[in-house]
Amino acid sequence: MRFIFDRQTGHKKKLNTFISFPEQLDMGPFLEDKQDQKCIYELSAVLIHRGISAYSGHYIAHVKDALTGDWYKFNDEEIEKMEGKKLQLGVEEDIGDTVKSQSRKPKCSKGYHCSRNAYMLVYKIQGEETSDPTRTKVEVPSFLQRLVDQDNRKFEEWCTEMADMRKQSVDKGKAKHEEVKELYTLLSAEDGEQYDFIPMDWLKKWLDDSTVSKEINNSPFLCSHGKLHPDKVGEVKRISFQAANVLYERYGGGPRLNGSSLCRECVSQQCRVLRLKNQLSEDFKEVSNLVKRSISGEGYWVGKASLRSWRQLALVQLEEDEHETKPSNSQTNGQGLHTNNKDFASDLSEGLEDEMKTFNEDIVCCHGGLSILELERKLVSTEVWTKLRKYFPKSPEFSQNQELCQQCLTLEQEEKDNEAISKMMALDQKNQLLNLFHEKNRPTLTKWPQGTEVLYIVPVFFVDEWKKFIRRPTKSSPVSNVGNTLLLCPHGGFMFTYESLINGEAQHVALLWPDEWEVISRLFIVDHSISIHCLKQSKSNGGSTQFTTQPELCWECRESFLFQQQRDLREYTQATIYIRKILQDKGMKDAAPELNASSSEAEEDREELPRVDGETDPDFSQSQDNAKRLKLSDGAALFVTNVTKPGGIRRSTRHRKLRGEKALIVSANQTLKELKIQIMHAFSVAPFDQNLSINGKGLTDDSATLGSLGVIPESIICLKADEPIADYAVMDDAYQVRMPEEGFKGTGLLGH
Ligand SMILES: [Zn+2]
Ligand SMILES: [Zn+2]
Ligand SMILES: [Zn+2]
Repeated sequence: MRFIFDRQTGHKKKLNTFISFPEQLDMGPFLEDKQDQKCIYELSAVLIHRGISAYSGHYIAHVKDALTGDWYKFNDEEIEKMEGKKLQLGVEEDIGDTVKSQSRKPKCSKGYHCSRNAYMLVYKIQGEETSDPTRTKVEVPSFLQRLVDQDNRKFEEWCTEMADMRKQSVDKGKAKHEEVKELYTLLSAEDGEQYDFIPMDWLKKWLDDSTVSKEINNSPFLCSHGKLHPDKVGEVKRISFQAANVLYERYGGGPRLNGSSLCRECVSQQCRVLRLKNQLSEDFKEVSNLVKRSISGEGYWVGKASLRSWRQLALVQLEEDEHETKPSNSQTNGQGLHTNNKDFASDLSEGLEDEMKTFNEDIVCCHGGLSILELERKLVSTEVWTKLRKYFPKSPEFSQNQELCQQCLTLEQEEKDNEAISKMMALDQKNQLLNLFHEKNRPTLTKWPQGTEVLYIVPVFFVDEWKKFIRRPTKSSPVSNVGNTLLLCPHGGFMFTYESLINGEAQHVALLWPDEWEVISRLFIVDHSISIHCLKQSKSNGGSTQFTTQPELCWECRESFLFQQQRDLREYTQATIYIRKILQDKGMKDAAPELNASSSEAEEDREELPRVDGETDPDFSQSQDNAKRLKLSDGAALFVTNVTKPGGIRRSTRHRKLRGEKALIVSANQTLKELKIQIMHAFSVAPFDQNLSINGKGLTDDSATLGSLGVIPESIICLKADEPIADYAVMDDAYQVRMPEEGFKGTGLLGH
């Protein structure tokens, strides 16, 4: 058996040892009764497994034709008759013999076969087939016969086709040979005869190949003028006019290039470039010397920058001219050449002063005339100009008498006039508003000035812009409009209250004395007048002071503005808050005396705010508690975006960190418990030892979010830490009641 089960590996395995077997097998010795039975068997088939593994390989069979005694090898659809009348297994053994360690093929005695791949042998009893020939007669099914016939027919057709093709190609080769023989004598062009240029490559192919040649293509040898490029002459061959006629007639193509096709233009261009390249160094020295001398007679203007870099410019120009004559590879001559040149020129001109492209372009103004900037040009002698002109025949030329660009002159004059006007205007405005400019004698709201009942308001933005203009009237444009719309809502109402202005929103507005406002009304366009009035009530009315604005506060817009601010304060992420640790002996109120009102109280106050009633401005009669609410808006970004800086930045710079204070990054939607864990990491105070308060109000609900607890960005939270509890059992209990297990128990993190 070839295939066995290997008990060690648990896999099937093929035994690759040689087994020898006889062609005739006498079973006589193994039979009890030898007289009656025929017991000589003949080998009639050998089944072979190719491959060394039991899991893969290929099966073939050797079968003997019982009638003729011929052996056939069956390998899938390939059936091969073996030569002679002998079974040959040697080939199969070679294929299977891939493992070197296999034993060598043993010697095989006559009448025996040897194989390491045969896995099944078929023996037939001798003499049987001769006695009954009908048993071995094979009938081929008709459909199979048809298939075989069809296949044979196809094969024969293919054979004749191949033979035809072969004959044809031989015929063609012969014809080509004849053609070459016929034309060969005609090919060479004698002196004085008419001739044509033919591509050398094409000619070689025509001579060498027996196959048909392609049409003649001369386009790779053309210059930009459509003629034969001087550089390409080496790649074409001169042949006689008659031979060319025959070739073009037979193979087509073009364009034909004859004796007059060589491009004169390209040749002279190349000569010029060559000559100038050789001359350049000498000319450069000469020009450098000549330029230093004083000029006698008429001169020409040359840009100083051009004069500095003309040698390099000339080189670039010459390279470009040389390149221009080169043929383009693509069929679309014009366009391809253009882009090629551009890339090429920009490569070379790299490093040129200010990316200068053409000579003397530095003294051409934007209108194409002579630039009015006299310092940037130099007068050179006619001799120098002639030399330079050789290299830059297309450069702009300005003789000494050339007039300056009229448009530029007019523009320059206008600019001067405008500057003078601006300067005058600035000086006039400054003199009329000297105090405003120098910030002297400014009125303030916190200490309302004596002797006046009204102050006027303009945006700080306007004052800043105006000062800029006064300082540099020629560089900045004059301010024309006061722009008070900035401070008003879409309904025309004012966006600030007296209270909010003295409580931190004053940075958006500038206050003016009535006489200053009078000047400003004359000098600038006033879109809206905004004023603030101080009304001293008579003693019968309580003797208090009231402030009103004109126009009045727009309640609707102010409220929605504040609401938006409040919402921003409740929906923050990644905001900074400050934790201030208080020592035990100090009271919380001492730590934050200025922040006594709780946020929820402010909330309630807001609900009670009076709405507009009668002639008194309700906002100005608010209690001090209400002012606290407005304080919340301090520092938040204002709707007047161009007069305010981003609020957060300003506020955090204002906050001065005290000792024992740390900043934490928090979000509005995180819980107090999460904040306590952050604090634990920062201060090493266990969550259950933390007593937190904001604005004097204790924070106790661990599951509440910071937003709902009134913790806003930049808040200061006071932390009072309990002393460590001596009784650890109590601590454990307290911990379990107030804080779910967080995994810190028993670690150093919980210590103070
Ligand atoms: Zn040309
Ligand atoms: Zn101009
Ligand atoms: Zn409004």
